[in-house]
Amino acid sequence: MRMPALFVGHGNPMNAIERNEFFRGWQEIARRLPRPAAILCVSAHWETQGAWVTATAQPQTIHDFYGFPKALFDVRYPAPGAPWLAERVAAIVTCERVQQDPGRGLDHGAWSVLVAMYPAADIPVVQLGMDTGRPGPHHYAIGRQLAPLRDENVLVLASGNLVHNLRLFSYHDPKPQPWAERCDEALRECIAARDHAALQDPASLGDEMQLAVPTPEHYLPLLYALALQREEEGAEFFNARVVSSISMTSVLIGGAAQA
Ligand code: ZN
Repeated sequence: MRMPALFVGHGNPMNAIERNEFFRGWQEIARRLPRPAAILCVSAHWETQGAWVTATAQPQTIHDFYGFPKALFDVRYPAPGAPWLAERVAAIVTCERVQQDPGRGLDHGAWSVLVAMYPAADIPVVQLGMDTGRPGPHHYAIGRQLAPLRDENVLVLASGNLVHNLRLFSYHDPKPQPWAERCDEALRECIAARDHAALQDPASLGDEMQLAVPTPEHYLPLLYALALQREEEGAEFFNARVVSSISMTSVLIGGAAQA
């Protein structure tokens, strides 16, 4: 079976330790996937100049946030790296030269989700950095070139948030902000309708998208997952809920129901 591809909304880093509905959603989706030989994670939290992959043999867990409880800083995700996969990505992506970083670890966009999906940390993980100064179509093009990995038992795990506005986020009032729900719904409709052209330029979907995507880094991972959707494959949503000004909506591409 061809490996599905995933976009996950990761949201608050505390989701890694809270055992909430989102954590359970990540657990359940992993159970439905074939066991990957390796994972290529495109995370909102690795922004690069040009395209980079981690070529680290034993990546460290990076705690790239502050102001959270010690329990979150104590989390380690000791999955091995996969220098062979870094080489493979550098070989198949030709629209841009992919450089290999021999020292970079795993950021919380990757590990906060992986602790739920694969708690044994026994599947090798490589991260692909995004040059967020480049426009949507550039990221979509890189995603298209990752397609062979699905036939090589590699899970492409894109991790960001469809709607992500920290300036308007309230920890005390998690109820969905109406504009955020409208944007989440509009994006879901576009994904369901397979309107990848519009999705590569979310600003084209109306003025409120400036609130949903004030900066590109949490949105762009979506394009890597969508670029892997084949003609006959559908998109299935899970964890589709808005918390304050952040959408946790996640998308499974090429899941069993569509196979
Ligand atoms: Zn994030």
